[in-house]
Amino acid sequence: MESDFLTWLRHRLPAHATGPLGLTDDAALLELRSSDRVLVSADMLMDGVDFVVGQCDPLMIGRKALAVNLSDMAAMAAQPRAALVSLALPRQHGRPLAEAIFEGLLPLAEEYEVRLAGGDTNSWNGPLVIDITVIGEATDRGPLLRSRALPGDEILATGSFGGSILGRHFSFSPRVREALMLHRDFELHAAIDVSDGLALDLSRLAHESGCGAVLRTDQVPLSPAATQLADQNPAAGSALDHALSDGEDFELLIAATPSEVQRILASRPVSVPLARIGRLIEKQGLWQESAASEMKPLAPAGYLHQLDP
Ligand SMILES: [Mg+2]
Repeated sequence: MESDFLTWLRHRLPAHATGPLGLTDDAALLELRSSDRVLVSADMLMDGVDFVVGQCDPLMIGRKALAVNLSDMAAMAAQPRAALVSLALPRQHGRPLAEAIFEGLLPLAEEYEVRLAGGDTNSWNGPLVIDITVIGEATDRGPLLRSRALPGDEILATGSFGGSILGRHFSFSPRVREALMLHRDFELHAAIDVSDGLALDLSRLAHESGCGAVLRTDQVPLSPAATQLADQNPAAGSALDHALSDGEDFELLIAATPSEVQRILASRPVSVPLARIGRLIEKQGLWQESAASEMKPLAPAGYLHQLDP
């Protein structure tokens, strides 16, 4: 099955969409501009956790599998260059599923100029698993890290938060272009992408930078889907609760000095909405503050994979 499928895939891909060896050899040859700025990240999606085969379009599964990896490159302000795509396919209907996954991810690869450098295609008596490794390059300014935020920095967020389960977890745009543009034109200190929840990922950025964070809960942009979820089932939380902890928003949190954040907001350099949603402080921990009230602790809620001891 694998060689048939590879023949299909090679014919399906435009010549420029693979590396110089074109998926023909045992390993890929990558032509990167600089060998000292290479960034690598991997993300694995599993049937039953990140999507449910049979309940969603397999094209969207393929798209999402690449998009989540591109979001990690955006968080580092890196230009994604190549992807290695590995599939563990259920034997039954595995071939059309594999084709649909690639049909879903290839347009996104084309849009972001990511070459398909290789991967692996296996089948088994288990559910679908997609593992993608993306290789990217930092710009001359180097990668944006989580750990360089300073107390006093403000936190800028792209887009809006919450309710991604209603569809945006499949259709989101990784903020690669926005990150590259902001990193090029402004002095950014640190960044992270929100994959597991705004509160949890903000706490991670603050922790890596050795400081705490205060979230201005009245300034968090709520997505229409967060409001919709809260309206449908008030017992499951408010729109703000969804925005803080749902995850899979794949927006960016960026730390920069207040004057730099002001300069960014004044010049509106990207088409995606930007909002100032909080600040970093010396006191460790995660805190919330509304327009009128004082600081209160905020639980770093979000999605974590559970492991049995
Ligand atoms: Mg990430």
